[in-house]
Amino acid sequence: MIIQLKKSVSNEQAKQLAAAVNAFHIYNENHVLITGSGTKELPALLEDVSDKYWVFPNDMQLASKVYQANKRTVNFGNVSIGGTTNHTVLIGGPCSVESEDQIRSSAELLVNLGLSTLRGGCYKPRTSPYSFQGLGLEGLKLLAKMREEFGLNVITEARDATHIDEIIEYTDIIQVGAKAMYDQGILRACAKTNKPVLIKRGFGTTLQEFVQAAEFVLSGGNENVVLCERGIRTFETGTRFTLDLCGVAWLQEYTNLPIILDPSHAIGYAYGVPVLAKACVAMGIDGLLIETHPNPKVALSDASQQLTYPQFEQLHHDLQKVAASVGFKMV
Ligand code: PEP
Ligand code: MN
Repeated sequence: MIIQLKKSVSNEQAKQLAAAVNAFHIYNENHVLITGSGTKELPALLEDVSDKYWVFPNDMQLASKVYQANKRTVNFGNVSIGGTTNHTVLIGGPCSVESEDQIRSSAELLVNLGLSTLRGGCYKPRTSPYSFQGLGLEGLKLLAKMREEFGLNVITEARDATHIDEIIEYTDIIQVGAKAMYDQGILRACAKTNKPVLIKRGFGTTLQEFVQAAEFVLSGGNENVVLCERGIRTFETGTRFTLDLCGVAWLQEYTNLPIILDPSHAIGYAYGVPVLAKACVAMGIDGLLIETHPNPKVALSDASQQLTYPQFEQLHHDLQKVAASVGFKMV
């Protein structure tokens, strides 16, 4: 249940009421208390102090359209995403930050196309301990340098909760990866910041569980949450994962969170990224994440799925038309 308290309720009083009914307390324009979905009746204590309340059939609460019908607008570094912006933010960059020359070349590519947001992994959640694990802090410093030199927003992944402070210091947006989205330590640490958080769907995660991961961050006080569909694991082995566009339609219908799609990790092969990206943009989505590398063959991670720069430029060109056909603009 979500309970919106009357304007006359003070911060102190709201905190006491939250403790008394064992609820989360956040303040957006009003003091809001959030209890588990098991609460069906307004607690007696809150009768005189509440303006309005919502009852939910499950723990999709703050993220649900029942609570807030309009899509949320999230500040995504220096652009906004979602809401009524009707634009699709094209996020580009390599899977991993590998060197200064490599990440600068990606930054230049984006700036020349008029794009705003550079992504590169520094703490890589690899399946094998023997694979490249990322440059860590050195990589974050390179991203910060690109932010400084080119005025780009930068986004990178937190592999565990101890990375959050560093990521906040050097970048603009925190990515919670598919393997990390169940990590309560990371989600709770993200909730304590006001940085935008991009949560990727785990490959065996139901839509309900996916949204509940977002609820951890929202109920903890950080309203800047964006969801990212990046493919789920099915019986199919011909492609790396299966991009769940049905799931995207479900999220658009039932949640108020901006949605980003990542066809690169979904298919796992560069040949399919452009056609899938067009299908994604045709759904009227808030963002698209595409991996690109100056020389994909020698990339230290996800080599088979990264586009070359000419392929990325061509895709950017083609996507403008698709976006326009659904009333969106690529930014
Ligand atoms: C990535 O974004 O490079 C990554 C590791 O993705 P995912 O968490 O979706 O596997
Ligand atoms: Mn990758």
